[in-house]
Amino acid sequence: MQKNECTIQDWIQKVVVQNQIDKYKHGHHFIHNDTFQKLLQQRTNPTSSCVRDILQKSLSIQTLSLQEISTLMQVEDPILWNEMFEVAEEVKKKVYDNRIVTFAPLYMSNLCVNNCEYCGFKKENSEMKRIRLSMDEIREEIKILAGCIGHKRLISVVGEHPLSDVDYIVESLNTIYSVKEKTPHGYGNIRRVNINAAPMSIEDLGKLKKAGIGTFQVFQETYHQPTYEKIHPQDTIKGNYEWRLYCMHRAQEAGVDDVGIGALFGLYDWRYEILGLVAHSIELETEFGIGPHTISVPRLQPASHSELSIHSRYRVNDEDFRKIVVLIRLAVPYTGLIITARESPTILKEMYPIMTQRDASTNIKIGGYEKTFLQEEEEQQFMLGDDRSLDEVVRELANEGHITSFCTAGYRCGRTGKKIMNLLRCGREGQFCKLNAILTFREWLDDFASPETKQVGEKIILKELKEVENSFPSSEVQELLSAYEQVKQGVRDLYF
Ligand code: SF4
Repeated sequence: MQKNECTIQDWIQKVVVQNQIDKYKHGHHFIHNDTFQKLLQQRTNPTSSCVRDILQKSLSIQTLSLQEISTLMQVEDPILWNEMFEVAEEVKKKVYDNRIVTFAPLYMSNLCVNNCEYCGFKKENSEMKRIRLSMDEIREEIKILAGCIGHKRLISVVGEHPLSDVDYIVESLNTIYSVKEKTPHGYGNIRRVNINAAPMSIEDLGKLKKAGIGTFQVFQETYHQPTYEKIHPQDTIKGNYEWRLYCMHRAQEAGVDDVGIGALFGLYDWRYEILGLVAHSIELETEFGIGPHTISVPRLQPASHSELSIHSRYRVNDEDFRKIVVLIRLAVPYTGLIITARESPTILKEMYPIMTQRDASTNIKIGGYEKTFLQEEEEQQFMLGDDRSLDEVVRELANEGHITSFCTAGYRCGRTGKKIMNLLRCGREGQFCKLNAILTFREWLDDFASPETKQVGEKIILKELKEVENSFPSSEVQELLSAYEQVKQGVRDLYF
């Protein structure tokens, strides 16, 4: 697995393809710093009627303009904030109902040629033990994730390095999809692998598409270019702000139409990052007719050997974090909203009515699922806030009235990109999802749930079945009931 420094330097020189930035940039990029700064300086303390007009637009599942989201950010009245929180809940219910999708992160390699100031994997952190999982090791991880815990969906994470390039990722995708672990009633397998990796060329993204990638996730970290350039050294690949900014344009061109964007909140003013995320969503909608499939809101957490991760003056407190989640839900109403186990159980629980996805049984150590020893700071990218098992999380969700969905049908039925955007906007995708959530939850309860979780899970599944019976056409109810019976008899992976 050794590559000498000279070969690595050659590889680095070839990663960024300038004409794959210029072709989308049209002379200037879509993050207009001057406009953003002017919006941030506004102090209008908007009236309730002005706020309510904007909320109506969110409720009609339309993306807000930069001025509109900026207006919402200026609200000072706590009563209006409560109202915004309630509307954010309503928006989520309208598009995603009471479903929360769960996944597990799989950290496959921490080799990295970059030196991001806030990250424990940075090249100059010589105390970080460097590991890249072999295919056999990945297989062992999947046996646990899919065969013992019951995950169906992963986000695979790799640092940027020639040894974890696109060919490694493609091989890992094939490996992950090939594992099928027997369970007492059926089998466990991973049915959707999302990838969080470095920006790639159109050609490399095409390889991921062919290998069956779910969502391609790249976070801009910070949209504020001067800050970006300060914390990502300019002699590294990641120092190139625009290569990163346009990676989702390249993904769309390569046919990878489920893309996930995000910002690392805490590197710069959180209001600026929200403007950045909204501008990014509008740009993708305008250019391709497809906004982001998901938006993630990771908050800067302490990382090994990173002063910035501990002392950043922009670190976000809990109160502002709640506002961030509400504002994004309102600004891009159709998108999935991911909050991870970086956050504490308390914050996660509070955000369930607004968010759509979370991870559980999370281990961010390379090879950490198979090796059950405790996570050391020196071996992971940052510290976790919630280390509860999937079983505990599913139980909590059920107790709070949310059904955990293990559905991965969307991309396997071709409901991705523009198709899924339109279905989400008109509420139709939600209908498929409701049925698939019931089937996959039944499957998970029978295969993996503890007796306590099963008990509370049965109640929520009965409630969901009742709702379908009362609101779906009878032909669809019959189809669901027949599939539901089959799952109970041990048939697996049925979906609409
Ligand atoms: S944030 Fe990503 S690119 Fe930067 S050092 Fe960490 S792993 Fe490497």
